[in-house]
Parts: sequence; C-alpha cells; structure tokens
Amino acid sequence: MSLRVRFPPSPTGFLHVGRARTAIFNWLFARRNGGTLVLRIEDTDRERSSDEMTRTILDGMRWLGLDWDEGPFFQSEGVARHRADALDLVARGRAYRDFSTDEEVEADRAYQHQSGEGQPWRARALAQAPGISDERAAAGEPYAIRFHVPDGVTAWDDLVHGERRFENQEIADFVILRQDGSPTYNLAVVSDDAEMAISHVVRGDDHLSNTPKQILIYEALERPVPVFGHLPMILGSDGKRLSSRHGAVSVEEYRDHGILPWALVNFLALLGWSPGDDREVMEIEELVEAFSLERVVKKSAVFDPEKLEWLNGRHLDRAPAARLVPIVRDALTSGDPEGREEVDQGRLVDAIAAVKGSVRTVRALAEQVDPLVRDDFRYEEKAAGKAWREP
Ligand code: GLU
Repeated sequence: MSLRVRFPPSPTGFLHVGRARTAIFNWLFARRNGGTLVLRIEDTDRERSSDEMTRTILDGMRWLGLDWDEGPFFQSEGVARHRADALDLVARGRAYRDFSTDEEVEADRAYQHQSGEGQPWRARALAQAPGISDERAAAGEPYAIRFHVPDGVTAWDDLVHGERRFENQEIADFVILRQDGSPTYNLAVVSDDAEMAISHVVRGDDHLSNTPKQILIYEALERPVPVFGHLPMILGSDGKRLSSRHGAVSVEEYRDHGILPWALVNFLALLGWSPGDDREVMEIEELVEAFSLERVVKKSAVFDPEKLEWLNGRHLDRAPAARLVPIVRDALTSGDPEGREEVDQGRLVDAIAAVKGSVRTVRALAEQVDPLVRDDFRYEEKAAGKAWREP
C-alpha cells in the first residue's frame, strides 16, 4: 500500500502555527517514507472561505518550504460526489432522509443529546412506510440526510493515542447532508479522503471525537479505513489552548518578525515530537531523517516564543552567510524597494558573516548589516565592530 497523507486547511483564516505544525508532521512523514502529500483546500463553507486566505495559506506553505505532490484540490469541487455518497448511504439503508419541519426541530431541542432509540428524528423516519421517503423527496419536499449510527463499539488503533474506543450509543445520528444540499465536514472529509486514497490521517486531537463518526461512514460506504494519528494540542504559556490572546499565532507574523522559515519548521516540529536524543537545533534534512510518528507524544505541547527566538538565533549563527543573503536583501529593501538591490554581494556576505552570531532575528540582522553596506556609511570591518557598540 502506498503511503498517502493530506493537509486539508479550511481557508477561513491565516496559516495558524498549529495548522502549520500539522502540515509539517504530514510533510515529514511523507518525505521520510517516500509517501505522497496531497493538499486539499476545504472551502465548502463558502461564506467563511476566501480566495485571499487560500493564497495566504499556500504562500505560507511555500515560504516554509513545504512542497506538496498533488493538488491543491478544492473540496467545493467535489460536492456532487459528496451528495452521491450520502444518497448511496440512504440506498444501503445506512442513512435516512430527515424531513423534520421547523416545529419538529424546535420540539426536538430537548432531545439534543439523545442517541440510540431515543432519537425523535430517527423514530419519525422509521415510522414511514417503505418507499415513502423516496416519494416525498421526488415530490420536492426538503430534507437533510442523517447517518444511522448502528449499535456497537467503534475502535481504532491510533498512532499516537493507542487503542481508542467509542460506544456508538454515545453518538446520535448525525447530519451528513444539510437541507440546502451541502455536505457536512464529516461526510466531505471521508468522501474526499476515500477518493484520494489517503492511507494515513494525521491531524490535531481536536478531531478525536469526529474519528468514530468518520470510521462509521467509511465502513458503511465499504471503503478502506485509513490509519489515524492525532497530534497533541498546542498550548500558550498559561496552559490554555494557543490563540491570538498569546500574541502572534500566524506564520506570516513570525516571518515579518524575522524568523527564518527553517527555524520555524524546526521549532514547530519539536512541539509534540522529539528525535529521541538531545538535539534541538536541526536542519530540515535532519528532521526528515529522524522523523517518526511513533515518537509523537500524547501530552500537549507549550508554545514558547522565547525559545523560538533562541532557536532562530542558533540557526542564524550556523547558516552560511551566503544562505542568508537573499533573506537579508529582502529585509533591507522592504521599506525601500529602489534602494539596495545594487548592494554588492561580497560586501553583504562579509557584513552578514560579521553580525549573524550575535542576533536572534532577521530584522535585527538587517538593521546591523544596513550601515555596513551603505556607501555613506562605509567602515572597515574592524572599525564597524566597535561602532555598533556605540548608540
Ligand atoms: N479542514 C479541517 C480543519 O482544518 C480538516 C480536519 C481534518 O484533518 O480532517 O480542521
């Protein structure tokens, strides 16, 4: 079986570092094992998705150096298939049309958490004579489609969490196709992952409770169930789930702050994973070489911006000056696009080499390099070394 993984961001926001970490783990897993990484934009929520966000996410991936092998595919292009899968489940008796009226939905609120036989929507569907559901649908009556959760237990062997078991009676019959004909996440994701022959689903553990529902759908569609691995949550320094309350959370913000892409990949790779020895400062190739999902831990990881800066400083120090030239050039010209393109390569390399061991961000590096490469500020390197210590 060929190893196929996916990264399926929803383009409803920037490339959050948590999402980027998921992308990195999938990318490392694919690269380590000669697998294929599929990029899928989950844009079925038309109102909240935007092309601009899609572009930002793709730019962020490229900037980090995370290339993909197939895609980007757009989930919205598969809606006809999602619907066909939902109707196929109805035909197999594994899902049913729910013709509930607004009043019934209102009255059902009291049953929100019911499952098993206690579900009024299921009772109403089952009370109909055979064939009635097809007739009502053909007559144009609006309906949603619900998955009929069977009795029993749904279990899987999670790559990170080990054996996970859910009692099916904890899961109410859930909607897979809304009244407006749009698929819900659980249907669309299974339909797409099955279509794209995804072998391993590696994602955040905020999806743990979706997994039994998805496994039930795979089984009902008689499609092979992929292997699942759920990555630990990322927390802020206060132990709460990482969010903008903790400061910068998007990849763009860290880029603008002067973090090197390979330092950010290194840092994020260490959130929930370690190489098994005490290495911390690692090049991308070393990460690929050392990566395995067996070494991902269950315990949530803490995002420490201080450590990120430190790690970035280590990477600046160890990078050959020539590797930093294009990045510093960008930083120098960002405020002054006319200006510094002409700066001589050799001078830039020398200035970067002199400074890179003592800074922690690209920004600081550019600030210190700037006077060294200006004609009106020409210093001998030794003299410049002294000059920086002056205010
Ligand atoms: N679009 C979903 C998300 O971004 C994908 C989740 C999944 O990997 O199944 O959370």
